[in-house]
Amino acid sequence: MDVATASDGRFGPDPMSAFDDWDAFREWAADVSDPGVTLLTSELGPPVPRPPQVFAIGVNYREHADEAGYPPDSLPVTFTKFPSSLTGPDATVTLPDGNVDWEVELVVAISRGGHSIPREEAWNHIAGLTVGQDLSERLAQLEGTRPQFSLAKSHPGFSPTGPWLVSVDEFADPADLAISCSLDGEVLQDSRTSRMIYDVPELVARLSAVVSLLPGDLIFTGTPSGIGNARTPKRFLQPGEVLTSTIEGVGEIITRFA
Ligand code: ZN
Repeated sequence: MDVATASDGRFGPDPMSAFDDWDAFREWAADVSDPGVTLLTSELGPPVPRPPQVFAIGVNYREHADEAGYPPDSLPVTFTKFPSSLTGPDATVTLPDGNVDWEVELVVAISRGGHSIPREEAWNHIAGLTVGQDLSERLAQLEGTRPQFSLAKSHPGFSPTGPWLVSVDEFADPADLAISCSLDGEVLQDSRTSRMIYDVPELVARLSAVVSLLPGDLIFTGTPSGIGNARTPKRFLQPGEVLTSTIEGVGEIITRFA
């Protein structure tokens, strides 16, 4: 539905306004009845268009840590994807020079922020889950004397998310969801979110032990194995290809390349 109209302007039209008082928004949404609007996925933008902070986690699945050649660290490997790289669930991304790779990821949106959030309370600080791609240009990421994760993963359109944010109560088990991606129909990654090294509550606890989390923040939680840079021969995205990324209980996003 059009939340701004249905709530008489109490929430929206800016989607970010829902995160300022998520509990009140949920309470209102539970009771509202509205004829709704016709929804075209192709017209949707990212469900969280302007997150104050975007955290992204590297090597957070055991098999991916193996293929990438990194042993797990005692702290989650954390970088940012600059918010200007966000795009919606049916987007065309112009490939920059270099080797652009895919990374399907579960993306967490924070509702109530906080510092030092205990693991046991972490799910109560989460507005919902969505599908994301952590598109990555591997030459810039890995070629220098120091890694350049944040820059190499923030070209325009390098952070597709969507198609919507699904609140945690909608999942039978939000900690164990099938996650996969395919390129022109060929399955490239296929795993379950229960295989994370640092699971979602642990990420919220460990990130918030250092940084204050804010309403509307996003956490890209890491990718399973099957990236192009770890294949023999290596494989990267080409103009004209279509990448489909899927998470059980959320849906799929489609990213086209030009
Ligand atoms: Zn990633």
